[in-house]
Amino acid sequence: MNPVLMIEKKRDGGALSAEEISGLVRGYVSGSIPDYQMSAFLMAVVLRGMDDTEMRAMTEAFVASGDVLDLSSIPGIKVDKHSTGGVGDKVSLILAPLVASAGVPVPMMAGRGLGHTGGTLDKLESIPGFATRLSEDAFVKQVASLGCAIMGQTDRLVPADRKIYSLRDVTGTVPSLPLICSSILSKKKAEGADALVLDVKLGRGAFFKKREETVRLAKSLVSLGNGLGIQTVALLTAMDQPLGRAVGNWLEVRESVDVLRGGGPKDVRDVTLALGAEMLVLGGKTSTHREGIVVLRKLLQSGAAYDTFIRMVKAQGGDVSVIENPENVPPAAFGVTVESPSDGWVAGLDAFAVGKISVGLGAGRVRKEDAVDPFAGIVLQKKTGDLVRKSETLAVIATNKEAVVEESKIRMIGAYQFSPKPADVQSLIDCRIDAKGESAFPFSPA
Ligand code: URA
Repeated sequence: MNPVLMIEKKRDGGALSAEEISGLVRGYVSGSIPDYQMSAFLMAVVLRGMDDTEMRAMTEAFVASGDVLDLSSIPGIKVDKHSTGGVGDKVSLILAPLVASAGVPVPMMAGRGLGHTGGTLDKLESIPGFATRLSEDAFVKQVASLGCAIMGQTDRLVPADRKIYSLRDVTGTVPSLPLICSSILSKKKAEGADALVLDVKLGRGAFFKKREETVRLAKSLVSLGNGLGIQTVALLTAMDQPLGRAVGNWLEVRESVDVLRGGGPKDVRDVTLALGAEMLVLGGKTSTHREGIVVLRKLLQSGAAYDTFIRMVKAQGGDVSVIENPENVPPAAFGVTVESPSDGWVAGLDAFAVGKISVGLGAGRVRKEDAVDPFAGIVLQKKTGDLVRKSETLAVIATNKEAVVEESKIRMIGAYQFSPKPADVQSLIDCRIDAKGESAFPFSPA
């Protein structure tokens, strides 16, 4: 098999056979195909796309690169959630223990930061000692005993996605419908989930900016998921501006803990409740979304979800003292306020720009080998719809890289749009997509 021929075929708009795709994937995992050839192939896919048959073959090749977990010893319907990637999107950290507390087992294979977006694994690893590399046995046992576990791809579980994911992160090859679909669904198939709720992000901070493209992505994910035997539903949720106030790994863990303790920002809570209600319906725990939201809200208020989170952190080797007393954790060396240049209303806050700035502060990677800085990031004091006075604080940036402070402040001001009149805020849940098509989400979680 000559990888150059396959790169050229895709570059010229041809369709690859299942054998060609699995040969490429196997060759890359085994090391016989180098990063530069896989990068060229991925870019050809970004530019030329793949048809549904190729996308399915790519997903199956990813799954076949490793083991598939058998969760049949765990009673009940195992339900996971995955996001297509957002800025400030810390929902998985809250949702896994929350839904597990309601009695639905959650086996979650998550990802690292990708492009301008953050990743659940990087966030969890900002808790000292937290292990995101679990053995298959430990993962299954933890889901059985505690109700949830969160891990990453390993050398034995979807190693193809593990390698290709980190390559895409640093080669501008993330925004591709077939690459996103195969990456997400191979993980879900390998982890053994029976059902899946997808949080498909819509808006400036999403990988696809236009609504038609986002709906197409959601429909492809739902159809591929169902085709693989995973009952799949998607919600399109707002990503014009970051979710919540915190962007950056440890900062987002802190905000997630606030939500798990019954507080936190309303947008984070509402998206979590909507996705969680879908998970409870799929898991057969409640028959309606409304009922699911009532159950989940009680679990946040009673502290039950927080307790499950603490048990998960302990089980995965994390230091719970930082969760219990986050104020004792020293911040990044530079904490700098960004002040408003004028009076007005915040008419927009560009999530893509904020994500890029956060990566530059150290919260994401520029090269595959880079370590992320757990403490780098941004806390937003003003968001779309807020009134602001000249010189009031818009945001606080945190970094250990002095050299990027001034430039980041200027870029942060540029991420805000101001208006003399109050502005509309993008609706939090745009629609729901299942095998039957698109419909309105049954009601507002608020
Ligand atoms: N999440 C993934 O796991 N993969 C992608 O490609 C995008 C989001």
